[in-house]
Amino acid sequence: MAGKAPRSGPRRHAPAVLSGRLSGRAGWRTVTPMRHDVVLYQGEALGRYGFGGGHPFGPDRLSAFLTELARQGLDRTVKTAAPVTATDEALSWFHDAAYVRRVRLQSLSGGGFLDQGDTPAVPGIFDAASHVVGSVVAGAALLLRGEASRVFVPIAGLHHARRTSAGGFCVFNDIGVLIEALKRQGLTRIAYVDIDAHHGDGVYYDFEDDPCVFSADIHEDGRFLYPGTGGRDESGRDAGAGRKLNIPLAPGAGDREFLAAFDKVETFVRAARPEIILLQAGADSIAGDPLAHLALTPEAHRHATKRLCALAGEYAQGRVLAMGGGGYNRDNLAATWTGVVRELLADR
Ligand SMILES: [Zn+2]
Repeated sequence: MAGKAPRSGPRRHAPAVLSGRLSGRAGWRTVTPMRHDVVLYQGEALGRYGFGGGHPFGPDRLSAFLTELARQGLDRTVKTAAPVTATDEALSWFHDAAYVRRVRLQSLSGGGFLDQGDTPAVPGIFDAASHVVGSVVAGAALLLRGEASRVFVPIAGLHHARRTSAGGFCVFNDIGVLIEALKRQGLTRIAYVDIDAHHGDGVYYDFEDDPCVFSADIHEDGRFLYPGTGGRDESGRDAGAGRKLNIPLAPGAGDREFLAAFDKVETFVRAARPEIILLQAGADSIAGDPLAHLALTPEAHRHATKRLCALAGEYAQGRVLAMGGGGYNRDNLAATWTGVVRELLADR
């Protein structure tokens, strides 16, 4: 499937996209963030990532979250950053340049699909997907510069896109681009934790042999759910052997099974001694999602966030970047992501 283009080693230069500036949005508190701030990326350009016409990944997901965040009063506690776009050069740190050109072209006219039928090429999707990538990379830059301790990007964590193809509603793999950006900054121990219902195949396979990426993924067993991968025996290969952890859960599994699995994730992340922790907090693992069959509650995601923040405090100078990931029941994603933000705010 996706190509295994040779990757260059760490290089110490600051890619242009890492200098993304913060700007305000009417009605949202916007100040220069400080070391202990939690920064939330939100704005119209991110909200546009989605597919209309009744597609589960609709463009209304961001507003569903923001409405709940405001209802709980957390919009006054986080600092807000406007979405930042990624350059074609940044996209090509992970993606094949020909694939980037194809998405740009298909996005101009719209029509057809970018994969086998899950990810429509709607007009403007190139720009929206570029803002997802750019915001995640800019958020990580804040962490590396010590200008924030936690970052949350709700519309992000598009873990199915591969280097040469879209997949499962994911046009560009923001996590893949971010990992390549972090490696270019000289990081060699990057922890990626994925608690979305679906296995993060785009991150797993494209970094399967990469010793810098310590990925841990709890998901619904691939025998019952897209993309059908992520077996316990998939633990990395070659230089990346032993640096990946996959824990499939049976359909119907709840918080009890999740907490047991997450204990293993904690042990794994601790052993990695990461320099930064990335969390894909997909809410489609919560009971009642229309596409998946797990039965977690938002408490599972709060627990994961809390524990990862504690580990980041021990090893990673507190750096945690969380992404919303999947989640197609609007009430679930609103409750889950708000809980994640609450934990990001709790312990800094
Ligand atoms: Zn998912």
